[in-house]
Amino acid sequence: MDIFSKIAAGEIPSYKCAENEEFYAFLDINPLVKGHTLVIPRREVDYIFDMEDDEIGRYQQFAKKVAKAIKEAFPCVKVAEVVLGLEVPHAHIHLIPMQSEADVDFKREKLSLPKEEFQAIADKIYAAFVK
Ligand code: 5GP
Repeated sequence: MDIFSKIAAGEIPSYKCAENEEFYAFLDINPLVKGHTLVIPRREVDYIFDMEDDEIGRYQQFAKKVAKAIKEAFPCVKVAEVVLGLEVPHAHIHLIPMQSEADVDFKREKLSLPKEEFQAIADKIYAAFVK
């Protein structure tokens, strides 16, 4: 199992933001801004465009619900949706609440937050998601 499959299965801890039977959302451990969330399929698939059309449809619908929860928890101009990166071989959508395009600059220094703050951020998004 790859690291994100282990996270979705609860074998590796994460800060859960949302879930259903097919998808899982959790905080990026190296966030660009507070509320930076990763959305993954539980199924092990590396490349998003290898997913079937109907699965991508459900993935996007789930990501949309998570984005709505993020925007409610962390008011912003828009939530950016970004798919990039070669680091982890498991499809993942980055959802990033942005006040300006500078918030989505992956080259900039990442935030370092205490555990309690990660937990508080995730709890806030989760509460908005299940509402
Ligand atoms: P990418 O493939 O998009 O370049 O990198 C994967 C993303 O996942 C990065 O933003 C990285 O910070 C995040 N990431 C990598 N490993 C972990 C992990 O074990 N836990 C969490 N929460 N995020 C991770």
